[in-house]
Amino acid sequence: MSVAQSKILTDDFRSEPYWWTGTPRSCADDTVLPPRVDVLVIGSGYTGLCAALQTMRGGRSTLVIDAEDIGWGCSSRNGGQVSTGIKPDFVALSKRYGETKARAVLQEGARALRWIGQFVKDEHLNCGFVECGRFHGAHSTRQFDQISYQLGRQPVDVRPEAYLVSRAEQSSEINTDYYHGGVVFERHGSLDPGAYHQGLLERVKASGAQVIGCCAALSIEKQRGSSRSIVRTARGAIEANDVIIATGGYTSALTPWQQRRVIPIGSYIIATEDLGSCARELIPKGRVVTDTRRVVVYYRLSPDGRRLLFGGRVSLKEKNPRCCVPRLYRQMLTIFPQLRSVKVSHAWMGFVGWTFEHLPHLGRHEGLWYSLGYCGSGVATASYLGTRLGQQVLGLDEGRTALDDLPFNTRPFYYGVPWFLGASVWWYRQLDRTGI
Ligand SMILES: Cc1cc2nc3c(=O)[nH]c(=O)nc-3n(C[C@H](O)[C@H](O)[C@H](O)COP(=O)(O)OP(=O)(O)OC[C@H]3O[C@@H](n4cnc5c(N)ncnc54)[C@H](O)[C@@H]3O)c2cc1C
Repeated sequence: MSVAQSKILTDDFRSEPYWWTGTPRSCADDTVLPPRVDVLVIGSGYTGLCAALQTMRGGRSTLVIDAEDIGWGCSSRNGGQVSTGIKPDFVALSKRYGETKARAVLQEGARALRWIGQFVKDEHLNCGFVECGRFHGAHSTRQFDQISYQLGRQPVDVRPEAYLVSRAEQSSEINTDYYHGGVVFERHGSLDPGAYHQGLLERVKASGAQVIGCCAALSIEKQRGSSRSIVRTARGAIEANDVIIATGGYTSALTPWQQRRVIPIGSYIIATEDLGSCARELIPKGRVVTDTRRVVVYYRLSPDGRRLLFGGRVSLKEKNPRCCVPRLYRQMLTIFPQLRSVKVSHAWMGFVGWTFEHLPHLGRHEGLWYSLGYCGSGVATASYLGTRLGQQVLGLDEGRTALDDLPFNTRPFYYGVPWFLGASVWWYRQLDRTGI
């Protein structure tokens, strides 16, 4: 450990998600694989579990497998911010797909947000879900003007429930002078992602589906003369009628078509030590926070309101979260200099799955179902689209979404290693510095 690191890490510092302390990951088990199932789901995050809940409850025998411990991916590592998950606005979407489709896509995002609140209630998931709202800070006056212009130009029927907060008023939202005002999205929320995943897992198991960790899918072959697939895994082969790819930012050469369309990008979080009641003074209304910088920063208080959990994209692919602590710490201090003597108790990272359209995609390609590419906003969207995908597998009309038929593009020379990201992020950082 370097001297700089030793000064800012607590003695009991852990390189793992803060959420895992409250909800430890379940260890590998020795469950024997069934030789055949109706539906095989690859990936045990929100997408996979929500899809499995539908298929099993719909009467199809379902098995979920994961290469690592169950829920090891982004679904137990994220910041727990709950939003609509659709990044481009109405104008950008209209230019690409026309106004009717743009409306439908934005409405689908709003539906996902309403849906997750209801889902948590209906399934009695004890995960601290609150509709706390999100403060999106402007990192320059130009950005404040930009967000106010953008908000105003959205048609009323797809405009998010949001209001502007001027710099003079922002102290009621956040205890920093870093921002030049911002916007509050009232319907956005927060939850404990580890507890949410655990609740989902319990519902899936209670439905009768099997969920098996430490069981990587190694290859998928279509059976000759039948629609069935044989999936070879580290623990034996499984025959399945339907296969769902729910591998998120960990999508690999197992599914080369999907791998060429999903861009893995590292995302990193630190948790401070217990700050006691002082933590609430940082974000008095307990909202989740993001800002207008292109190289994203996101943060919130822990569910008990005693720590700050501060996330950002400080590296593209560094897998050792400890290495990223100093950079994240410095970013945290530019916003909250009052935390100068505070130590870091946890640091972790994961790979989010991005797409070239900045939109999630779901559908079926060469017989394999998939839902992928939530671009860093997958708590509500992965759960919602996973559910819809499960309904599609069952052949139900309610499974259809506005995202089903969107073109899912790749780029020349992209095969899963995002060689172009370094240059783009460098450029984005220059723009962020100048406030543009
Ligand atoms: C640090 C961080 C912060 C984030 N913060 C937020 C946030 O605040 N709000 C928000 O909305 N979203 C956030 N996200 C994104 C969100 O967590 C994801 O979009 C969402 O969890 C994706 O769920 P998933 O089920 O598709 O994928 P994952 O949860 O990543 O699950 C994919 C699983 O597939 C498994 N897998 C891969 N290959 C194989 C194979 N060959 N065989 C078997 N299993 C395989 C992996 O082991 C993994 O467990 C964040 C992500 C990260 C990393």
